[in-house]
Amino acid sequence: MELERKIDILAESAKYDVSCSSSGVENNTRPGTVGSTQASGICHSFTPDGRCVSLLKLLFTNACIFDCHYCINRKSNAIPRATFTPQEVADLTMDFYMRNYIEGLFLSSAIIKSADYTCELLIKTLKILREEKGFRGYIHVKAIPGADEKLIEELGFLADRMSVNVELPSRESLKLLAPDKDPFDLYKPMKQITTVKKEQEFLPALRRGPSFVPAGQSTQMIIGASPESDRSIVKISENLYQKYQLKRVYYSAYIPVNQDNLLPAVTTEPPLLREHRLYQADWLLRYYKFTADEILSEDKPNFNLYLDPKANWAVQNYQRFPVDVQTAPYDQLLRVPGIGPKSAQNIVKARKYYRLHLTDLKKLGIVIKRAQYFIACNHETPAGLIKDPEWIITSLISSKQYQVLKKHNTQSTSEQLSLFDVERFEHAKSR
Ligand code: SF4
Repeated sequence: MELERKIDILAESAKYDVSCSSSGVENNTRPGTVGSTQASGICHSFTPDGRCVSLLKLLFTNACIFDCHYCINRKSNAIPRATFTPQEVADLTMDFYMRNYIEGLFLSSAIIKSADYTCELLIKTLKILREEKGFRGYIHVKAIPGADEKLIEELGFLADRMSVNVELPSRESLKLLAPDKDPFDLYKPMKQITTVKKEQEFLPALRRGPSFVPAGQSTQMIIGASPESDRSIVKISENLYQKYQLKRVYYSAYIPVNQDNLLPAVTTEPPLLREHRLYQADWLLRYYKFTADEILSEDKPNFNLYLDPKANWAVQNYQRFPVDVQTAPYDQLLRVPGIGPKSAQNIVKARKYYRLHLTDLKKLGIVIKRAQYFIACNHETPAGLIKDPEWIITSLISSKQYQVLKKHNTQSTSEQLSLFDVERFEHAKSR
C-alpha cells in the first residue's frame, strides 16, 4: 500500500485520541488568515518545563485484534486497515522535523497480532529514530497494555512521555465494553513506570544513565460511554495522580462512532460540557489542593451545569466566606472563585508591604466580578453582605450563558444534574 494511502487511513483512525491538546480541531486557512489545523496530523503537547511543542501524531496501525465496543478500530468494523513500518514512521518524523513542522512525535497504536509484537514494533521505530537518525526531539508513545515488562522498560528509555489509557472509569464498564482488555494489564504498566522512575531518582546522578520517561506518564478516560458519575471519575483521577504520579489525565467526551446496543445512540451529542467540567475539576485537584470529596459529594455526585466546580463548591460552603484578603492563609485564598494560584501569591506578597484596598485587587490579578461575593477587603465586602447563596448563583450566571446552557440541556439527554432546576432559576432571575 502506498504511504499516502496509509497516512489517510491511519489519520482517520487516530483522530479520536485526545491525549494531546489540539486533536479533533479542524480549521482551514481562509484568504487573509494564517494557521490551519487538522483533526489529526500535528498536535500540541506540553513539556515538563511548560513549553508547548508541536508533535506529529501517528497511529502505527489500526489493524486491531481487539473488539472494544466504543472504538472505530475494533476488529468487527469493516473499515480500511493499514500498518506503517518502523522505517516509514521514522522517515516521516524526520521529514517533518527537518522541515521545521514539528518538534516531536506522538505515536499510538492498536494491538496488532499481540501486545508484545506491537510493543516490539514501537521499540524498533523509536530505536531507528534515536539511534540511527540521532533524533533528540520529544517523543510521546503509548505503552501497550499486556506487553512484557522488559519491553515496556525498553520503550520507556527511548521515549519522553508514555501513556496507558484507562479508557473507562470502572472495571465493570471495561468488562462490558472492552471485553478483551484485562484491567490488570492497564494498571500494571502504570505501576511499572512509576516504580522504575522512582528507582532512577534514588540513584546517584552519575549512575543514572539514560532517563526513563523523563516527562512522566499520562492517561485518557472516555466520558459518557458508560454510566459512572462525575464524582467517581474525579475520584479515579485523584487516585491516579496520587498513586502513579501521573502528569495528566485527559478526558474524552464519547463520540458515538458505532451502532451498538451497549452504547449511547449514534445521534447522541458528545457530552462536551461535562468534559469541560471534568477538566476544571482536574485543575482543582492539581493546582488548588481540592480533594475529590470536596468537589462532588455522595448526595450530589454530578457537576452543576451552570457553575464551574470551584464556584459551585464556594456557594455550597458559603458559611466559610467572606475570606479576608488581608489575613487569610494562601490555601484559603485559593478557594475563592476569581483567585488563582498566581493572584493568591500576589496577595500574600503585596500584603506584607501595605494594607490592601479594593482598588489594589484588580492589579494583583483577581477577577473581581467573581470574587466580590466571597471576599472582605479593608472591612468592606465588595458586593455587600449577601446571605442568600442562590442569589449569588444567579448573579454569577449571565442571562446569555443561561440561555446557551438551557438550550444545551434540552438538546442533550445525557447531561448532568443541576444544582437547582430551571424554574427556580427563572424565578430567582426575575426577582
Ligand atoms: S485495543 Fe480497543 S480501543 Fe485500542 S484500538 Fe483496539 S479496539 Fe480500539
